[in-house]
Amino acid sequence: MKPAQRKHYDVIIIGAGPAGLRCAEVLAPSGLKVLLLEKKSHIGQKVCAGGVTRKFFEIYDFPPGLIEKATNQTLLTSPRRQFNIRAKENFLFTLDRKTLGQWQLARIKRETVEIQTERQVTRIEKDFVEVDSNKQYSFNFLVGADGPSSLTRRYLKIPTRHYIMAMQYKIPYRKNDIPFEIIMNSHYFHTGYAWIFPHKNYLAVGCGADPHSLSPKKMKANFHRWIKERGFDISQAAYESFPILYDYRGFRFGNIFLAGEAAGLTSGLSGEGIYPALVSGQETAKCILDKNYQSETMEYLLRHKKIQENIRRFLILTGPCRNIAFNLILKLLHIESFNRRLTKGFS
Ligand SMILES: Cc1cc2nc3c(=O)[nH]c(=O)nc-3n(C[C@H](O)[C@H](O)[C@H](O)COP(=O)(O)OP(=O)(O)OC[C@H]3O[C@@H](n4cnc5c(N)ncnc54)[C@H](O)[C@@H]3O)c2cc1C
Repeated sequence: MKPAQRKHYDVIIIGAGPAGLRCAEVLAPSGLKVLLLEKKSHIGQKVCAGGVTRKFFEIYDFPPGLIEKATNQTLLTSPRRQFNIRAKENFLFTLDRKTLGQWQLARIKRETVEIQTERQVTRIEKDFVEVDSNKQYSFNFLVGADGPSSLTRRYLKIPTRHYIMAMQYKIPYRKNDIPFEIIMNSHYFHTGYAWIFPHKNYLAVGCGADPHSLSPKKMKANFHRWIKERGFDISQAAYESFPILYDYRGFRFGNIFLAGEAAGLTSGLSGEGIYPALVSGQETAKCILDKNYQSETMEYLLRHKKIQENIRRFLILTGPCRNIAFNLILKLLHIESFNRRLTKGFS
């Protein structure tokens, strides 16, 4: 295809997850011509436990009615201890990813943003992308918000070494009697952890760990053993599994940006990725709109990610004593100042 035959956009965004949608929303009022391409037919679908913390509401005034569950306490469980973190206000929430995606979509002014679903970017070149191996669109700026298997990242030749393998069941459940819980037990999950996140109609029960230290096959076997011990009935539950990329190597590469998980901005410790995706999508848009923009929010996010990275490294170093470390962390939570710092740091 000759360059003149390609339709031109100021910005092309690949991927309509939280990062891509937020980026499109912030760009929309500027009048720039934006194309958002999503390979799935429905916006919002994603393997995810749907947990967000208070930080999420700094970005969005998300309607309380769309929150599935909210809590001001969470059980932390180690092999020998249990601690119930409590705060005055709710600090952990669950939301449905389809609901979030559709809500974000409705906020985008459509006059200047064109959104195409079931359109997969199959090739990236210096100034154009190819879609479904036939159509080509040229761009001034490209935003790769295309998740953990990002084509944009591969085009930029950025390595993808550090990721978590995560797996979960969505177990149908309507009662209100199961608390939010985080389970740290290295016999099952190595440096990773398991979660129980209640939603309106189901429990998201899952685990994640570094596949370099615990093979996905072994992790799945351990996960099933643990599920059985906890007495969960998974006969009616849907199983899902997906990687979580946390290998950050930068987000701005000339006129190409990486946002969200494509940039590896997820926490390698907690697996939290929705908030970093929203922040980076938003800050990428601001960088496009103002070439001199310096993002303090991104710097804060990266500082925070580094602290969590250091905790993760410390947990690796604890080796066979890891469960002792988990027990100790829970013991230290009885100290008010430690408790406050930890709760604040993670929410
Ligand atoms: C089991 C599991 C549980 C999790 N639980 C939580 C949690 O409780 N809380 C939390 O904060 N995070 C959680 N995460 C992480 C979170 O889901 C992600 O970090 C977050 O979705 C990243 O958002 P994103 O916009 O960067 O990418 P994504 O949400 O992955 O969106 C990327 C989009 O790009 C599209 N795409 C990809 N390639 C192309 C292409 N070539 N052309 C067109 N479109 C393309 C995809 O279809 C997708 O819609 C979990 C992850 C897993 C796997």
